[in-house]
Amino acid sequence: VSPTKGKPKWLRVKLPTGKKYTQLRSLVDTYNLHTICTSGSCPNMGECWGEGTATFMILGNVCTRSCGFCGVKTGRPEEVDWAEPEKVARSIKIMGIKHAVVTSVDRDDLKDMGSILWAETVKAIRRMNPETTLETLIPDFQGIERHLDRILEVGPEVISHNMETVRRLTREVRIQAKYDRSLGVLRYLKDNGARRTKSGIMLGLGEEEAEVLQSLKDLREVGVDVVTIGQYLQPSKKHLPVKRFVTPEEFDKYREIGLEMGFRHVESGALVRSSYKAHKHID
Ligand code: SF4
Ligand code: SF4
Repeated sequence: VSPTKGKPKWLRVKLPTGKKYTQLRSLVDTYNLHTICTSGSCPNMGECWGEGTATFMILGNVCTRSCGFCGVKTGRPEEVDWAEPEKVARSIKIMGIKHAVVTSVDRDDLKDMGSILWAETVKAIRRMNPETTLETLIPDFQGIERHLDRILEVGPEVISHNMETVRRLTREVRIQAKYDRSLGVLRYLKDNGARRTKSGIMLGLGEEEAEVLQSLKDLREVGVDVVTIGQYLQPSKKHLPVKRFVTPEEFDKYREIGLEMGFRHVESGALVRSSYKAHKHID
């Protein structure tokens, strides 16, 4: 259970309501569909679903990595389900999703690291939902170009890969990842035809302001178009503690600085998650 004691008022959210939200909620329950929005009990569900955006996770729900901030289970993942692309595509159709975000666990256990199923998923979504726009929030694929190429080939409107934190804290926050490798992934995507690239960081893990600004600069330097900045919240007591609640004023400041630096979109706020307002990031 995440600690709510001492949570500042700007992090307390109202339960989602609204007609569209209620409709989607009942569809998800009836068809047993899987979204990060529901499994992660995301505070933005009312807003995102009301606007026709949802996030789907593929390649199972067990990850080969064990990032200190992440609530996904670590361990030996299940077999790849080759019917998954069709299932996700059908879910998007049933839910009438206008902009879908697809993400996955990391599959360092697979030779292709899951990149083939990733590409098949995008293709199936396109086939069944020609009007739906797509963001693929991908793992680093260990920086291996032929895996990244598979994503580039299917041409999602937005390709995102999250830095999650500043350089100094990367080891602690994403133990199996590397700051420069992630930057390299974003650079490679941009240099090889990605229409739009996007990344995200969480604040409140002990980073200094100068480090945040450096991260933003690094992201601009590799051509990233969209950045999301949100408050880290501890998924359970076993995860990294929240060092600090960043104030709304600080988030506003980062938004302004980011826009000045030349990002096309900057979503910065306590409740911002990587896929928050994702439908806006295609224009
Ligand atoms: Fe779903 Fe992302 Fe929106 Fe949360 S922010 S409701 S996970 S689309
Ligand atoms: Fe979570 Fe992704 Fe890290 Fe896996 S790689 S533990 S899914 S953040």
